[in-house]
Amino acid sequence: MNITFVGGGVSSLIASILLKEKYPSIDVTIIEKDETLGKRFKVAGNGRCNFSNNDISSSFFHNGNQVKHIIDQFNLCKDDIYSSLGIYYFIDNYGRYYPLSESGKSLQGLLLKRLESLSIKVINDFIISVDDSSSNNINGSILLKSDHRTYQTDILVLALGGQSQFYSKDNYLLLNDLNIKTNEPSPSLSPLITKEKIPPYLQGKRVKAVVSLIHNDQQIYEEKGEVIFKKDGLSGICIFNISSIIDQSSKNPYYIDLDCSNDVDYQTFKDRYLSDKEECLQTLVNDDYKKYLISVSESNVQSLYKTLKKRRFTYLKHYPLKDSQVTRGGISLESINLANLSLINHPKIYTLGELMDVDGLEGGYNIFFAFASAYYFVNHLKIDY
Ligand SMILES: Cc1cc2nc3c(=O)[nH]c(=O)nc-3n(C[C@H](O)[C@H](O)[C@H](O)COP(=O)(O)OP(=O)(O)OC[C@H]3O[C@@H](n4cnc5c(N)ncnc54)[C@H](O)[C@@H]3O)c2cc1C
Repeated sequence: MNITFVGGGVSSLIASILLKEKYPSIDVTIIEKDETLGKRFKVAGNGRCNFSNNDISSSFFHNGNQVKHIIDQFNLCKDDIYSSLGIYYFIDNYGRYYPLSESGKSLQGLLLKRLESLSIKVINDFIISVDDSSSNNINGSILLKSDHRTYQTDILVLALGGQSQFYSKDNYLLLNDLNIKTNEPSPSLSPLITKEKIPPYLQGKRVKAVVSLIHNDQQIYEEKGEVIFKKDGLSGICIFNISSIIDQSSKNPYYIDLDCSNDVDYQTFKDRYLSDKEECLQTLVNDDYKKYLISVSESNVQSLYKTLKKRRFTYLKHYPLKDSQVTRGGISLESINLANLSLINHPKIYTLGELMDVDGLEGGYNIFFAFASAYYFVNHLKIDY
């Protein structure tokens, strides 16, 4: 019996290790197009690798309600699995998990060592087609092709990831052969382009604010955090989360409101302003945002307070996929048997991780889901050998 993973990222590293530990006698192979496996570990969390979170709920994931059983099962035992993999971690004040080393590279190294000790075979190749029509081969196995080689496997696991950052849409070429429903990839956890341009002195600068997302005259999300100003829009963790909530197909506009008042009420603001104009704003915001507020307000205390309390930005669109951290879209959940993660019309082909149309908020949720789907797949795989 052999099982082949196409894509050597987070989910297949974890699934192949758990699989080989559970069934030592099966042959497990990973085919990865790039030189290194698990390269996302190195970039996650700016190199520190925020790989999970204390506060897990299916509501923090796009399509989370459909994969709640996968999320919940792993959430219950995640700490034991991390320990069994030798991952020692700490949890910061926001509930985010990081390796003790605070290095994604060392986490990647740890898992690669485990892979080697379990004799999991690694091949560097780019798979461009797949054929599981058993009439095309003698023993009913699945054929995988690259430009120059053909491979055979009894069970295939597709773990191709998303299309964010440096990934190409050619990665998904092999999906064309399977005739399954995929949803168009689009960026999530990305900066947002706004109608209002940002003056040069504010670009690259940050401000702390309560950030609200407004749609159809209602506040649909609020988060306190740091906003980073870009040339043509906004960035920062809270903006990334807002990018995950915005429905990019909606015709109705979205607005992003920044409240930098720090809960100071109008009367207090006015009293402070009348006693010392300069100091009043200086105690609340940095010099660059102060300059900006003055430039977009009328020159009276009421207008200044109003803008401090609510500076509105009109959402135009997301930054492109190459600037996003995670991809929305991929294999539609309609095409997946969610009881065991096999493809509905291809029972010997399974899928994991970001390739599925599931993505989470900022805070370790996407690597969490890569682990959760890997764990679920291994625990629900039925093999006779
Ligand atoms: C800059 C950045 C920062 C991030 N930070 C975080 C974070 O802090 N916390 C968090 O939870 N998530 C973070 N993420 C998201 C997270 O890394 C991914 O969601 C996660 O890695 C998905 O795991 P995966 O196994 O599905 O895919 P991946 O880990 O992306 O692996 C897919 C692999 O498949 C390979 N592949 C694709 N097609 C083929 C093919 N046809 N043939 C052979 N190989 C192929 C790719 O080369 C890749 O190695 C970040 C992402 C980015 C880009």
